[in-house]
Amino acid sequence: MGILKNKIVILILSDDYSSVKHSLVCYSHGALNLTTMSQGLLEKIDLFVRAERDEILTEVNEELREKLEPIPVHINMGDETTGLYGDYSGTPSGSESAFGATGPSSDITIYAIGFSGMEHDEPALRKKVKKVLMHEYGHYLGFGEGYMRENGIC
Ligand SMILES: [Zn+2]
Repeated sequence: MGILKNKIVILILSDDYSSVKHSLVCYSHGALNLTTMSQGLLEKIDLFVRAERDEILTEVNEELREKLEPIPVHINMGDETTGLYGDYSGTPSGSESAFGATGPSSDITIYAIGFSGMEHDEPALRKKVKKVLMHEYGHYLGFGEGYMRENGIC
C-alpha cells in the first residue's frame, strides 16, 4: 500500500498542476445553467475521460496498472444539484474483507455537468478531467480528501 500511494502521488506531483491547484475547489461549483450548456459536453467529457484514463494507465507502473485497469469508469451527465465532478464507490484497495470479495466492486463515475463552463478551454478541461480521475483512483487507493488536497489531487 505504501509503495502504491507514493507512486501515484509522485505521478501526480510530476505534472504541473500548481497553476490551477488553488483556483479549483473540490466538489463545489457556482450556479449551473443546463439550458446554456453545450450539448456536446457529454461527448467531449466521454472522449477526454477515455484518453486521460489510457494516459494514466500508461504512466503508472505495472503493479498499479493491474489494480486500476479493471475499475470501470462510467460517464454520465450527472446531477446539477450535487455539483460533483466524479464519484468512487466500492471497497478501497487493501481494506477488502478477509473472507473474500463480499464488498461492493469498485466503480468510478464521472459527471459531465461538473465540467460545464470549461468546455471552451480544452487543455484546461483535459487537465481537470485527468485530475478528477486521479482523485477517484486515489479514493480506491485509500487516500482521504485532506491528504489529496494537500497533494494537489483535488
Ligand atoms: Zn473525493
